[in-house]
Amino acid sequence: MDEISKLRSIISGSDDIVFFGGAGVSTESGIPDFRSTDGLYNQQYAYPPETILSRSFFDSDTAEFFRFYRDKMLHPDARPNAAHIKLAELEMQGKLTAVITQNIDGLHTMAGSRCVHELHGSVHRNHCMKCGGSHSTERISESEGIPRCVCGGTIKPDVVLYEEPLDRSVMDDAAEAIRNADVLIVGGTSLNVFPAAGLLSHFRGGSIVLINRSRLPDEDKATLVIRSPIGETMSRL
Ligand code: ZN
Repeated sequence: MDEISKLRSIISGSDDIVFFGGAGVSTESGIPDFRSTDGLYNQQYAYPPETILSRSFFDSDTAEFFRFYRDKMLHPDARPNAAHIKLAELEMQGKLTAVITQNIDGLHTMAGSRCVHELHGSVHRNHCMKCGGSHSTERISESEGIPRCVCGGTIKPDVVLYEEPLDRSVMDDAAEAIRNADVLIVGGTSLNVFPAAGLLSHFRGGSIVLINRSRLPDEDKATLVIRSPIGETMSRL
């Protein structure tokens, strides 16, 4: 049996599938993984992305944070690819119970997925640090310098920055989804990166499917390994 037939067979035998995805899920929608393109930023920014996207940098150099954020983190023209669309379909068919994502682009929701646990938050939600009011992402993209609320407070995206803890309730919901799953499909990320490793320890089900463009160090843990881009793989199902 080829890999796609094996994946099809695993999916058809389950109605408790959970998908765990990382940056590789969004690259086929034209959103680059900022960690893998470090070199490009050196010409435009004085600090690496991991520094700019940290809480201490946000607090101390807020205008420079937003220059990077508007330029590299907001992708208003990005649309869901075959992976997002297929996962939304599987949920609608009652086969998939949850999507857990490390991405902040909101593309799973845009594709129609309803149960999405966004471990690192979303660029589509923003709040005023002073009054707590909600703001649209356009308010950030269309402003210059530091985006401000009518009350004068700084608007902060609801995105988990480096040095900030993950949201406890989102982590708990993700862990519970994994605990109740019998198939776990991991796409566009490694199993052993934080926080995947900790969450995956809750898995009690039978099959782990790993779909990733490049070889991963933890492939021996998987029932099925497909070494192709996730969107391309899902489009063949
Ligand atoms: Zn305010």
